[in-house]
Amino acid sequence: MIVEAVHLRRLQMPLRDSFAASYGTHPIKHGILVQLETDVGVGFAECSAFADPYYTEETVDTAWLMIERYLVPALKGKSISEAEQASSLWDRVRGHNMAKASLESAVWDVLARQGHASLASALGGTAGDIPVGISLGLYESEAALLSRVETALEEGYQRVKVKIAPGSEHAILKSIRDEFGAIALSADANGAYTKADAALLQSLDDYGLVMLEQPLAFDDLHEHAELQRTMATPICLDESIRSVRDASSAIAMGACRAICVKPSRVGGLSAARDIVALCETSGLPAWCGGMYETGVGRLHCMALCTLPGMTMPGDIGPSSRYYEEDIVDPPIEFSRPGWLSVGGSPGQEAQINSATLARFTVAEKRL
Ligand SMILES: [Mg+2]
Repeated sequence: MIVEAVHLRRLQMPLRDSFAASYGTHPIKHGILVQLETDVGVGFAECSAFADPYYTEETVDTAWLMIERYLVPALKGKSISEAEQASSLWDRVRGHNMAKASLESAVWDVLARQGHASLASALGGTAGDIPVGISLGLYESEAALLSRVETALEEGYQRVKVKIAPGSEHAILKSIRDEFGAIALSADANGAYTKADAALLQSLDDYGLVMLEQPLAFDDLHEHAELQRTMATPICLDESIRSVRDASSAIAMGACRAICVKPSRVGGLSAARDIVALCETSGLPAWCGGMYETGVGRLHCMALCTLPGMTMPGDIGPSSRYYEEDIVDPPIEFSRPGWLSVGGSPGQEAQINSATLARFTVAEKRL
């Protein structure tokens, strides 16, 4: 295929639940929808950077700048037969994985459709049902948190993950264990602790968590390895894993016993697929984390979830978990409680709801 143009739309979509983590609160989903126009058809993907640089250093603004100034000029006019070729076009650009991932995933979208394959099968996965967990933010009261957990369990979510922050961790986890017993529960600290908190973190072993996600700094594998050696709870790395090399180093150092894979954070679907394969050969569980994706990015993550190495429920829920209205039509819904069905049909271009998309678009540019 030859890339002819890229149409960028900046989106602002109200979230049903304002989501709070240790790094900040998100009442609105900001994003970029990428529409890749080629000689063989159109592909869609989204950039998952947040509005502010508190999860990673990227923001919607920096991603737009990188896509416009560096990535699209390198991609436009090129003949591409494999998504990895697209990634190699911007090897010289360091970082900016979320900007890169948006274009790379759109390339995957076009190539899958061109090959009359579903994205899941193009990636090496198998279409079918995928298990779904839920990620809950920080809540203002224990009652509000417990009520939300109860609803999640009633809705069939197969694992509950809660955000924790220094000082609130024991209260949050104890109240959930007291109320709901031995449910599949994990906790995500988004890097809010330091090695000075080692004893506190070790005491979380008492809660029998499925995993403790990213307790320490995003750029410190060594301290995670030291902590993991002293904890029974598997540490799962999220922010620390930005490439296949990071995953390889983390596994070699014993810095984690599970990996949260997000295609946006690692530069695209190719790297995400390779990390899942590495986890599989290394015997580590992998699962797909969420970035409050719209239906477009959500469908891409669902395809990734069908890889055989994805051995734990992902955080990729139905559209209604996040949005009153999604930009895909039909919206993504549970096929049965706690499960999503990944279809075998190629492409998703017919699934864009143009009217909803137009309503949530606050700026656009064709490059
Ligand atoms: Mg996380």
